[in-house]
Amino acid sequence: MRIILITLLLSLSMTTSTLSWASPNVYINGTQKDLQVIQIDGKSFVPLRVITESLGSKVEWKETDIYITPDLKRPSIKGEAKYTNMINKSLDLLSIRNPVGYILICKYVSRINVDNKPIPKQESDYYAYTLFDTVTVNTNLLEDKEKNIPEFLAAILVHEGVHAAQNGFQFTLLSNKEDIEKEAYVYALNSLWLLNAPKWSVDEVLHGLGSTID
Ligand SMILES: [Zn+2]
Repeated sequence: MRIILITLLLSLSMTTSTLSWASPNVYINGTQKDLQVIQIDGKSFVPLRVITESLGSKVEWKETDIYITPDLKRPSIKGEAKYTNMINKSLDLLSIRNPVGYILICKYVSRINVDNKPIPKQESDYYAYTLFDTVTVNTNLLEDKEKNIPEFLAAILVHEGVHAAQNGFQFTLLSNKEDIEKEAYVYALNSLWLLNAPKWSVDEVLHGLGSTID
């Protein structure tokens, strides 16, 4: 009987949560926020909306569920549905696996063209090119059965996102064309690694990077 009682007390004490009030200062990106922190069993709880919105995302209640999504506007994508779907698929991938690349594109690219307009002659070998804040993706790539995988397309979009940022806000202090190109390739390469892309695509980008050096 005694053993049973001790066991019961032990199990009761193990299931009881300890709630305490703590008062640490909370800083979001260096700005102090007036927030009440609650601690339950050693875990700290803070108001979700304040934190999320301060970090540029939004919180939505949909019926009984909470959705947290980055409050970023994707570029408008112009072209046939099959092409725009491919672009969106690559952007979906980036939003999960390479948020920095995704934010770069959403912030600096306002339009992605995937129409069948002829590519200017000097750009025809390129997978994509950027003019100001508009990226045009060569539909030859999207029609290429071997090369058109979302991971590779995502890296190309990141490369062009870097160019759009360079164009718009002098994102780079680099002045010569080679270094500007190198910077975009490095971001593209990083994207391939984060997306666990196949070796051929890494080789392809490394080749592009190599051609900017020699
Ligand atoms: Zn480039």
